Amino acid sequence: MDPVSATANIVAIVQAANRVITLCKKFLEAVRDAPSDIRLVLVEISTLRAVLDNLHFLASESGRSTAALDALARDHGPIEGCRKAILELEHLLPSESILSTESKTKALLSAISWTLKDSKAKALLDELRGYKSTITLALTTDSVFDLKDIKASTDEIQTATKVIRAALSDVQRQQLNNWLQVTDTTRLHEKACAEYEPGTGEWLFRSPEWFSWLEEETRCLWVHGIPGAGKTVLASHLIETVKDHCLYRGPSYACAYYYCYFGHAQDEARPMLRSVIAQLCRQLRGIPVAVYDLYLHGGEPSLTSLLLALEEVVSAFDRVFVFIDAVDESSPRQDLLRVLRDLAAGSRFDKLRVLATSREYIDIEDSMSDISAQISMRNSLLDQDIARYVRAKLDQHSRMKRWPEDLRDMVLDALSTKANGMTLDETYERILLNMPEESRVFVQHVLQWLSTHRTIHQVIPGVQHRASLSRSPVYIPGGDNIPCPVLFEAVEKTLASADADEGTNFCDYALDDELLRELCGCLITVTKVRIRDGSTTEYMSDVTFAHYTVLEFLESSRIRRGAAASFALDRERVMAEHAKVLVLGASATADRWSSAWPDNRGIDFYDILASMGSTTWLDPVLQLLDTHAAPRGSYFWYTPTCLEFLENPISPAITAFLRTRETKFLEQPPEPHFENLVRMLQLDESGSLSRAYLASLGRLSDDFACQVDLEFQSAAFFEPVAGNVSDEQWRSQSLEILRFKGSVLEWYAHLPGGPLAHQGLYKMLEFAAGHFDPSTIMLLTIANHQHDNIAPAAQCGGCLVLKHLLRLGAQATVPGYAVGSLQIAVARRDLAGTGLLLEAGVDPNDIGDVDGEIGTPDRGPILRWASNMWSQSSQKATYESLAAILIQYGARDFTSPMGEDPSRSRETPAEEELAST
Ligand SMILES: [Zn+2]
Repeated sequence: MDPVSATANIVAIVQAANRVITLCKKFLEAVRDAPSDIRLVLVEISTLRAVLDNLHFLASESGRSTAALDALARDHGPIEGCRKAILELEHLLPSESILSTESKTKALLSAISWTLKDSKAKALLDELRGYKSTITLALTTDSVFDLKDIKASTDEIQTATKVIRAALSDVQRQQLNNWLQVTDTTRLHEKACAEYEPGTGEWLFRSPEWFSWLEEETRCLWVHGIPGAGKTVLASHLIETVKDHCLYRGPSYACAYYYCYFGHAQDEARPMLRSVIAQLCRQLRGIPVAVYDLYLHGGEPSLTSLLLALEEVVSAFDRVFVFIDAVDESSPRQDLLRVLRDLAAGSRFDKLRVLATSREYIDIEDSMSDISAQISMRNSLLDQDIARYVRAKLDQHSRMKRWPEDLRDMVLDALSTKANGMTLDETYERILLNMPEESRVFVQHVLQWLSTHRTIHQVIPGVQHRASLSRSPVYIPGGDNIPCPVLFEAVEKTLASADADEGTNFCDYALDDELLRELCGCLITVTKVRIRDGSTTEYMSDVTFAHYTVLEFLESSRIRRGAAASFALDRERVMAEHAKVLVLGASATADRWSSAWPDNRGIDFYDILASMGSTTWLDPVLQLLDTHAAPRGSYFWYTPTCLEFLENPISPAITAFLRTRETKFLEQPPEPHFENLVRMLQLDESGSLSRAYLASLGRLSDDFACQVDLEFQSAAFFEPVAGNVSDEQWRSQSLEILRFKGSVLEWYAHLPGGPLAHQGLYKMLEFAAGHFDPSTIMLLTIANHQHDNIAPAAQCGGCLVLKHLLRLGAQATVPGYAVGSLQIAVARRDLAGTGLLLEAGVDPNDIGDVDGEIGTPDRGPILRWASNMWSQSSQKATYESLAAILIQYGARDFTSPMGEDPSRSRETPAEEELAST
């Protein structure tokens, strides 16, 4: 076949291919459930057409590739075979006129008839695939290669690629390479090379593992070590060394590398394979068929096809060295680990030598341990290396001059005398000491917040690590990770509350995660997390300790003895400090949610509080700020920056914060912290938070005796009782401002609450023993006695509080109060409370302080509560029981005529007043 007719033939095939493509598209449009094979035909023929287009281009260039064309265009050769197959395929497809018709039946019939022809079509596609490979190979093969030897057999093509050299132009090769190498890590390599200190890393060359890997049969070497051990810099040095080795050995030796990097925020498996293949193709100065196929096929190649392509490239060399640095920075990394195993152990890659570096994570260790020789960076050879490195750094350090003389001497001394046995501790210490002085305070706070965050997440059960990240736009910090913006805000808050001259040093820094990495170096790990929000994808960095040993060292007694003692971390003290920041920060921002304030009082919140037995000082903070809503957001979300991310800020803790907003001091409290104390009592009815707060300040329980004078909004406390007040009454009462004057503990005692408040008060009475008047407390607390749903003779938490107060000698009447405890109990139809008081010897005819001004509807809120708390079950039986018990204990003139309201009784002035309101 002469070139001209060959060209004409190619044109004819291209036209036939176009017709098949059109038919397939129409078929897919006309028949909704078109056989899936049609899609396959469409894809195959489309890629074939792309190859044919290239062939046509070459054939029309006179004098170009005649040998190749001759081979392809010979009788019964690939071009002719291709033409025949494609025409046959066209006939199998329903004709265009049928597909264009409106008749669904016809279209359906053609779908059925296609199914019958299915196997024939598959055979044709296979045939075409074979021709496509042959043509592609011819296109990419050097003219020195004897094309006449090419057979249509795919197997033979695979073997033939061993020595092929591409016939593509430099520009075409470049294009292909650019397409292939989506992630270029050359810059990372150069950066690491620049940080290399001459002389370091030599220890590895002396190890037997290295020799075996470089020269003998060890296929995979895993270099692992703690963060900061210098793995990446070491890797760059090894790469350069092996490059030289390959140059020396000649072109059949090749070397490629890839640096995984957290900033890529991707599973590095495919980018790594693409980059390695591209680098090897450059060294091969050719493009193997499998690689070219990837390119022609376009899109994102599958792992399988990439591995096939790599296999083909590697087969062109005698030895290929591949370096993969920082496997741990791939996120996720399952695919990468799988690929690594294939490269290190698969028989098809036996010419490959892989060197991987990573931190010591369990999953990596599991994956690497049985397929690789390991080199730990924790050895004495390396210690010398680190010492050399740190010394070099110290020498170069421009800020070093400003370091205190003794500190500098200590570092240098330690380096020169102990260079042989440097421990992990010493490594960390050196990292800390190497830190610029002006950023030390910042770094200290960062490390402290990481510790607090870690502790909190360890004690809160059920926080799923990024559980709903993929489903929700709300970012949920999980495990040990804190989102960077949150961390910065937390640090800024603590810095602001710290000594002014401590905090001001840091004002000039623009906070971002790069700076964080730079300052905190290898003590922390910054991870980029992908957040999907509808159609847009955003990234957020989060931070955690690089290794558990970092925190261990910071909290150890060892650090206190060393030069980095200023970084020592006292968890209890730090947590107390942070708890304050969190509570105050949260109450300051709570008003931003007032519109989202849920209508319920947050029963769940109290249930959670009640269900948690432990009351260490941390618990109440967790409960208040994180609560059961942890899966929806954690305490860190209470900072303004993060509110923007928060979709559903409804947390019962917020309602508690909102309540405290209306409380105002009429008289300045004697010390500023009393204001917080009062609000905390209001926030946390268990009282644990305020006790912890005092403890963190080093204050004593006598603070509870301190007098306060304040105003508060009744809505914060009074619950409407069904059937007792109308909604309208309730609303108007809600807006009322009430006044409280008394001790801090009395304030706490008079706040109504559930069973937990009883427990809390009971504990508080023990805690503040000797600093309160039991009579006043009893008077203020008896209206809170909720003895619902249990038998009058049984004891609830409130009963225990009452008994305790009575044991302490509580009297029913308190000077200044117009009503006494017994009157309140009777007014509330509180049979159990009344019984307890009478049993304890309270005078059944007690009528309060007749001259008292507190506790009348005009003077104070006591009776108002009693009114609101009025028992629902004001039944006849209760009246009778009340009357009976009062008479039994000697009440005079107490009558309870059937059907008559007992509040008419002379002896119960409290009830008269209630009735009149
Ligand atoms: Zn009770």
